[in-house]
Amino acid sequence: MAVPSRSGQQLESGIECGSLFDALPDAVLVISDAGVITQVNAAAELLFGYDRQQLMGQDHCIILAEGYRSGFEQLFASLRHSQESGVPAPTPFESYGLRSDGTEFPGEVACSLLHTDHGTSLVASVRATFHRQEADAGLREAMSLLSATLESTADGILVVSSDGKIAGLNDQFTTMWGIPQELLETHDDAALMGYVLGQLAEPESFLEKVQELYADPTAESHDVLDFLDGRTFERYSRPQKVDDTVVGRVWSFRDVTPRRRAQEQAKQALAELAEQAAQLKAMAFQDPLTGLANRKLFHDQLTEALRGDRSAAVDVLLLDLDDFKEVNDILGHHAGDQMLVEVARRLRACVRPNDTVARLGGDEFVVLLTGSDDAETVAERIVESLNVPVWIEGSMLRPSLSLGLASMNEDAVAASELLRRADVAMYAAKAAGKNRFMRFQPEMMTALVQRTDMEAGLRLAVDDGEITVNFQPIVSPRLGEVTQFEALARWDRGGERVPPSQFIPTAERSGLISTIGMHMMRESFIQLRPWLAGDLERSLAVNVSGVQLREPDFADAVLCLAESCRMDPRQLVLEVTESVFLDPDAHVIRQLGSLRNAGVRVALDDFGTGYSSLGRLQDLPVDAVKIDKSFVSMVRTGAEKLPILSSMINMAHSLGLRVTAEGVETAEQAAYLTDLECDSLQGYLFSHPEPESGLELAILRSADAVDALEGLRLKR
Ligand code: C2E
Ligand code: CA
Ligand code: CA
Repeated sequence: MAVPSRSGQQLESGIECGSLFDALPDAVLVISDAGVITQVNAAAELLFGYDRQQLMGQDHCIILAEGYRSGFEQLFASLRHSQESGVPAPTPFESYGLRSDGTEFPGEVACSLLHTDHGTSLVASVRATFHRQEADAGLREAMSLLSATLESTADGILVVSSDGKIAGLNDQFTTMWGIPQELLETHDDAALMGYVLGQLAEPESFLEKVQELYADPTAESHDVLDFLDGRTFERYSRPQKVDDTVVGRVWSFRDVTPRRRAQEQAKQALAELAEQAAQLKAMAFQDPLTGLANRKLFHDQLTEALRGDRSAAVDVLLLDLDDFKEVNDILGHHAGDQMLVEVARRLRACVRPNDTVARLGGDEFVVLLTGSDDAETVAERIVESLNVPVWIEGSMLRPSLSLGLASMNEDAVAASELLRRADVAMYAAKAAGKNRFMRFQPEMMTALVQRTDMEAGLRLAVDDGEITVNFQPIVSPRLGEVTQFEALARWDRGGERVPPSQFIPTAERSGLISTIGMHMMRESFIQLRPWLAGDLERSLAVNVSGVQLREPDFADAVLCLAESCRMDPRQLVLEVTESVFLDPDAHVIRQLGSLRNAGVRVALDDFGTGYSSLGRLQDLPVDAVKIDKSFVSMVRTGAEKLPILSSMINMAHSLGLRVTAEGVETAEQAAYLTDLECDSLQGYLFSHPEPESGLELAILRSADAVDALEGLRLKR
């Protein structure tokens, strides 16, 4: 063995190798490649507490504390490798020595290889490091504090050295990432990275970030990682420095899933709140039944339109359903609502998408057209499309409306004024017979003033004797003579005749109709008494308004008056329109009942124009019907087939009711109706309504016309 002996070889300095070996302050041992101690120096004897002879030939493990005995071969191999490749050897390193008395001590071991003719041995120099223990204790305390902190934090922490190796991690890190213990033990960093990436929603961007950070070791960064399983981590990364030198990177991860969820829930709740607010806002501008704009929105839009471009046309079409109250009364509010919805639908279909259609309330609607070049065509289209029949709850209804059109012309008009003009025009359309549209004309304003004026005039009319009676004959084709007269009111106002279609509605609205009605009855009882007295079969028909029937003592008053005028109640016919039967006040029906008990007959006027069906006729307490002139006017040549007329007459007859046809103007109409066995005829063909003084002549003329009718029928 080429190990220096205690005596012999001398160094150039004259110092003998053996004594130098023994004089070395560190313990030095030579160990063969088989791990056997072959040489030790005096310091080694002292350090380990053995004699030289006791150590030599022993396995090196004898001087190593338990737990430090493995790894010799690996150490040997890596020293060899380092010598061959120039890579620094893993030395010196810390280890624990074992003395002969069994005590252990910490030491630092430095190793090198020694080549001799007999082979290669390992030379180990060992220095006890008791002196470091104190410093170590401080370090250990700091370390334990650090690791306790690391382990107690909720954050997952990973420390990676500059060469990409995992230098440390806490339990929280492995738990959060769900890293299996086996995987950790492999120390396979690439596999670990693969495991981490596999859980992320966007692994590429994380990888990119990691690479970016490694390219810039001093960078600090922070972001959020989304997991495939829905979790969210916050990530911090900062360099790990030792004395200003970056030696690695610390990654810390915090599970912010609950916080994220809470944030998302709050966001969702806020969005829902915003949506509700939007709905509420929409509701504030929307008619809930039809979904159309409401009055408020319409006003805003109109004001906006009037403020805009002066040259663009602005048209307001105000419309009101005709006799809508009847639909509600006969078929109920649910049907009424359905009708309003249908009307809204039709209105929308008549205009462009950006035109405003609003429901102002009840059965009143308004359309706002901006930039339309032909508002009248739109108005016409609305009237026509509304008048198409619709089935609602088993009944066929034919909605109709009156429409007023007002447009902005050169002079600037306020929104309220434009709407007022449309209202005036609509009123005019109603007065002109409904189911039509009228454009506002300045004269209509005068008409409005006139209506107010009319009411004032009407108040004085009865006392001033301006209201008089005219009588129109009603003939029986079977008997060929006049069997009845209808009393019709006439108002001569300062030499000008005001038509009943104008003053009767005013009288009804003001309540004056009761006075006028009683006046009419008294006058006609008196004037017609001589004619009526001639034959008990003769009768007098008087029109009665629903307003009158609502008076509590109406029936008594009529019977009282008849008695005082010596008029037989059986010769009196009261003409009422269907609307009186719709009055929810049962009192109205009761009044008619007591009058009928006294012998008075009731005729249903304008039959066929109301909303009720023929089928309802049997429920009404009436004795006769008067077919409205609009049906009679359908007869032109007399050759046409009009099943509606024949069904009306047959239906009434089957219920035991008498039938009168109104507005008979031509012989063809008279013949046609006679063929259908209509009981009585009334109209200009026989006579216009005449004052009492003209009745004698009217009777003669009417009789002539009936005779002529017989001739015509025989010829056919
Ligand atoms: P009405 O009860 O339907 O009366 C028949 C109307 O038709 C009368 O109009 C009559 O003049 C008209 N007429 C008669 N024959 C013909 C004809 O061949 N062709 C045409 N086109 N028309 C004809 P008038 O007198 O203008 O009365 C209008 C309405 O005013 C009446 O309709 C009735 O509803 C109401 N009225 C008239 N007088 C009174 C009254 O004293 N009390 C009440 N409550 N209403 C009345
Ligand atoms: Ca009548
Ligand atoms: Ca009538």
